[in-house]
Order: sequence, then structure tokens, then C-alpha cells
Amino acid sequence: MSQHLDWIQDELENLKQAGLYNRIRTLSSPQGAWLVVDGKRVLNFCSNNYLGLANNPRLVSAAQEAVKKYGVGPAAVRSIAGTMDLHLELERRLAAFKGVPAAITFQSGFTANLATIPALVGKEDVIFSDELNHASIIDGSRLSGARIVRYAHANPEDLECVIQEAQDYRRGLVITDGVFSMDGDIAPLDEIYEVTQKHNLMLMVDDAHGEGVMGKGGRGIVDHFNLHGKVDVEVGTLSKAFGVVGGVSAGKEVIVEWLRQRGRPFLFSSAVTVPDVAATLAALDILEESTELVDRLWENTRYFKAEMKRLGFDTGRSVTPITPIMLGEAPLAQQFSRDLFDEGVFAMPIGYPTVPKGKARIRVMISAAHSRQDLDKGLESFARVGKKLTVTI
Ligand SMILES: *Cc1c(COP(=O)(O)O)cnc(C)c1O
Repeated sequence: MSQHLDWIQDELENLKQAGLYNRIRTLSSPQGAWLVVDGKRVLNFCSNNYLGLANNPRLVSAAQEAVKKYGVGPAAVRSIAGTMDLHLELERRLAAFKGVPAAITFQSGFTANLATIPALVGKEDVIFSDELNHASIIDGSRLSGARIVRYAHANPEDLECVIQEAQDYRRGLVITDGVFSMDGDIAPLDEIYEVTQKHNLMLMVDDAHGEGVMGKGGRGIVDHFNLHGKVDVEVGTLSKAFGVVGGVSAGKEVIVEWLRQRGRPFLFSSAVTVPDVAATLAALDILEESTELVDRLWENTRYFKAEMKRLGFDTGRSVTPITPIMLGEAPLAQQFSRDLFDEGVFAMPIGYPTVPKGKARIRVMISAAHSRQDLDKGLESFARVGKKLTVTI
């Protein structure tokens, strides 16, 4: 018997021993405030469904109608026969929503980074990257072949230092997440912009957790800092607040035009599907009609955080609906999550290597879909488990 794959079995065993093996929980319900997870009905504190749009009836019916007219599959890459009028409409609407001249969509936010970064920089260039940037920024950066220089998290002074040290490059690109997904803090984009201006660098922000959340009516981190026309390109996802799936790069016209020529996932991978596009258009309708959902998201966020602090929990440096409950050691976070699940509350533990050693936490994702009752039920469970595990007194 051939043994050439035994190493994988060994590695999988190592992951299990170290408590780092991903066990995939299975849902048998739509996304929403409540889920059926592994057969049990639980309060959902895990999803990126910030506005509750993933199962919104208007998105669902828009997808159904579009499928009747256009079918399901794109059947080609965008540059051959995969661009439907719907794709162009979505790109116009996304650009208008974000207040930028142009936008181009991709199959996912991850793919948008793999498309955008290598189109902007190559071997002779340098990328200045926040040390806590998302994995898709890291992979897109590696794919570009550019030199990658990390700067201290959310620290414009350190960015300035590393720029001054990095001599001899053709072009420079500064990349940061807008909202950081593990701590819920935000990049000081205004100060970062000033640094890029001083050094004549390109500026890109990944706003995956900012769209639909930050800024006026959820227009994102650029709107939050009022930096319209200043950030060169914003990468985003249709899979979080928008509740669907897909990615986008939005910004200066010339960059979007260049991505249509040189964005490899645009040229060599099929387009985002018809129901996704139609559902996202319906999401944009909802966001442009009213700020109700975004307002409710923030009301829920403020309420939950204030009550958690009152109960004696440490919610870290979050300023967004992403609410880490700092617990310290990974086994405690895992036990906390299991006890919550027994209480009917689904909230994920996050430990090393996703966050530094000793910084394990439970991450609660607040949504506009939560009612006050839902939040109260969650708070009661946190209070009970916190006492039981002597995290709080
Ligand atoms: C979630 C996320 C992505 C990936 O988005 P998908 O559409 O799920 O591929 C990219 N960047 C950041 C910062 C994210 O948080």
C-alpha cells in the first residue's frame, strides 16, 4: 500500500491533539437571529449577517425573479460572454452607494483581493501592510510578488517609519482593513491617508466589515472618515452586511478600468451568479431607502456592549458590532462556548493562531436581526456561564 499521503493523517492528528482542528457545525435553517445548529435551536451570535439581509424576503424574491429571466449560471468569464446587463447595473449601483466613480465585482471578497493587489504592484514594488490584515490581503500580497513590509497595527507613526526605511522601490501600496474582524477596532484611515499623500503612495482599504455598518446608512469606512475621492480603491464583500456572496473593488475609474484588463479572477474565473447579483441589488434598494436596519444594528450594539460591561466582562477595544469577550486562555474560551451552546447560545471561541496566545476570546457578532428579547436572553446566558466559570463575580 502506498504511504505517500500518510503525512496528512499525521498532520490532522497533530491538529486534533493541539485543539486546533476545525469541527464544522452544520446549519439546517436559514440565517437569522436564531439558527438550527447540529439539530438544536440556538441564538445566533456568530454570523456576519449584520443587517439580517441573508434571508430577507425582498432579496429572496429578487433572486427568484432574476433566475426566471436569466437562469442560474454565468457560463463564461466576464471578459468573454459572462457579463450580463445585471452585472453592470450592480457595479453602477455599488459605485453610487459608496460615492465613488466606478466599481467592479468579483466572485468573493477574498477573490477581490487576489485580483486587485497583483494588478497594482509587482516584483519591483512594495506593499505596506497592517500586521493584522485579513488572510486574503496577505495572500493577494504574496501573489503579487511585491516586497511585503508590515507595520504595527493601526499605527500611522510606525507606517511612516517603515516607509522611510524601505528604499529603492518603483511603486508603493499601503493596505489596511477598515474594520478588524477579531477585535472590532478600526484603522485610523484619515492619518494613514496623510502618510500616503506625503510619500506619494497608493492607498487601498478592505472594507468587508465596514460596508453596511460604518458611515452614513452603512456606506462604509471611507464615508465614516469623510475621505471620498481620497482612498484609491476599496475592496469589499457582498457576503457580510449585504447578506449574499460576491466581492467588489470600488474607487478611481482608472483602477477599475485596469482591473477589467488585468484582474486575473475577472479574466479567468466565471462571474458572480445571477441570483447573487439580483439579491445584492435588492439589498442596495433597502439600504438606500432607509437607514432603519443600520440604526437598529447600532442600537443593538450599544445596548449589548453596555450590558456586558455592566456584567463585568471585558469587551476589548471594539468600536463596532464585532464584540470580543476577552477570556485569556484558549481552553477557557472553548469551555465558555460549549457552556453557552448548552444554554442555547451559539458564539464561537477564537484562540491562537487566529489571535495571539493569551488573548483567547468569545466573539459575539451583533445583528439588526436580534430583538431586544434575543439580546437579553444572550446576556442572561453570558451572566450565568461567566459566574460558573468564575470569569465574573
Ligand atoms: C470576510 C473578509 C473577506 C472575504 O470576504 P468573502 O466575500 O467571504 O470572500 C475579505 N477581507 C476581509 C477583511 C474580510 O473580513
